[in-house]
Amino acid sequence: MSTAQLKTAHASWEQPTGLFINNEWVNGVDGKTFEVVNPADETVITSVAEATEKDVDIAVAAARKAFEGAWRKETPENRGKLLRKLADLMEANIDKLAACESLDNGKAITMAKGDVGMAAATLRYYGGWADKIEGKVVDTTPDTFNYIKKEPIGVCGQIIPWNFPILMWAWKIGPAVAAGNTVVLKTAEQTPLSALIAANLIKEAGFPPGVINIISGFGKVAGAAISAHMDVDKVAFTGSTVVGRTIMKAAAGSNLKKVTLELGGKSPNLVFEDADIDNAISWVNFGIFFNHGQCCCAGSRIYVQESIYDKFVQRFKERAAKNVVGDPFDANTFQGPQVSQVQFDRIMSYIDAGKTAGATVEIGGKRKGEKGYFIEPTIFSNVSEDMKIMQEEIFGPVCSIAKFKNKEDAIRLGNATTYGLAAAVHTSNLNTAIEVSNALRAGTVWVNTYNTLHHQLPFGGFKESGIGRELGEAALDNYLQTKTVSIRLGDALFG
Ligand code: ADP
Repeated sequence: MSTAQLKTAHASWEQPTGLFINNEWVNGVDGKTFEVVNPADETVITSVAEATEKDVDIAVAAARKAFEGAWRKETPENRGKLLRKLADLMEANIDKLAACESLDNGKAITMAKGDVGMAAATLRYYGGWADKIEGKVVDTTPDTFNYIKKEPIGVCGQIIPWNFPILMWAWKIGPAVAAGNTVVLKTAEQTPLSALIAANLIKEAGFPPGVINIISGFGKVAGAAISAHMDVDKVAFTGSTVVGRTIMKAAAGSNLKKVTLELGGKSPNLVFEDADIDNAISWVNFGIFFNHGQCCCAGSRIYVQESIYDKFVQRFKERAAKNVVGDPFDANTFQGPQVSQVQFDRIMSYIDAGKTAGATVEIGGKRKGEKGYFIEPTIFSNVSEDMKIMQEEIFGPVCSIAKFKNKEDAIRLGNATTYGLAAAVHTSNLNTAIEVSNALRAGTVWVNTYNTLHHQLPFGGFKESGIGRELGEAALDNYLQTKTVSIRLGDALFG
């Protein structure tokens, strides 16, 4: 098996670099590899095997065999035990996994540790669900016995993004495996490493071969092969809305596999004049700048009631200026580099578009340093609704701030987007909180908080932000199908 020795200030480890299929490490059939870049200094960390269509075929065949064989025979109780064991192993390996995540993705080490902890908690939670998936008996006529059962869908292709590599890995694998499916998961080409460490833990936990297969590769090759595969029963995707559409088309054009999509957002953060301003500023700051703005639910459109607008902008600027941007391995760092040159260039082009359109840069607006993909936390004011920076997802540490007059205005502006992933309301008035939350067309609404996701609570999009839900009991629905069995009682012949 190919491995690389990796070392950071926090941990050193033997990094698997192959494809994890059937609980074995293999090279790609074509022997291709690609480089993985450290976004903090732009150096190459290592190279990993690249899966092509042929490798996807092999991984899908392994997942099919496991689904029809060993995994189908496994009891729900054991499925749960295996997931919980995997959660324990992730926690036992938290230093290595977090260091790997910071190295590969650039996220601050404290945040990376948080991600690993949440990933383990998610797997443990779904481990608890495995033996609690139940059906129903439905009476129709006296001579019929009907039962409705929930069954796994089969082989699930899962395509994850680079912003929360290990957390998305757990969000996808947990419900799929708890429900009795098998998985071929493709990581994002920018961040394949932590998933490969976790793959070793799958084997160590005792999962039968083929239940969970992890491959590295590119979207247009391996991702496209998964979405169009005739023997993949379901595809679950997290990423951009553009790619989400492509995946849905591929599913429609192949075997009509089931599709769930968790896509982009342009989430509103609404601050009313009666809000606790210190708290609101902290959450607004966290809402946009957490994870370097690389969150699908980032609160990137900030609307503040006009009576407190000037004070809010001033204090928000002061708060954002205190965010420590720098070395991901420094315990004080809040914001590391953006994930890649491509993302860096994309974000800088949005910043240029904002400046050209006449918006005011309140703070930031520039690259930070000369090496690595660091961008200053950036706040734009004087932004009109039709500007690109107010309409499009930037996926970086850039937000727009504008005023609203009253509740109706706040709701109208909050909903003025094609997206509907998340929103937030800051107010001390209970009626305002509930009325506005109910009126916002978003899958999650936070009140006096932001980004506080929890594995017990469903998360996903209204409108163009997606189809289906991650997390909570709701995510199990994405991985189960309903079977009705109707039995005629008695021995009278029909007709
Ligand atoms: P971003 O633009 O932020 O990189 P993407 O939506 O392009 O996000 O990528 C998210 C995931 O989707 C990655 O794993 C990527 O490889 C995959 N992907 C990209 N293009 C395709 C495609 N055409 N078909 C399937 N998966 C894809």
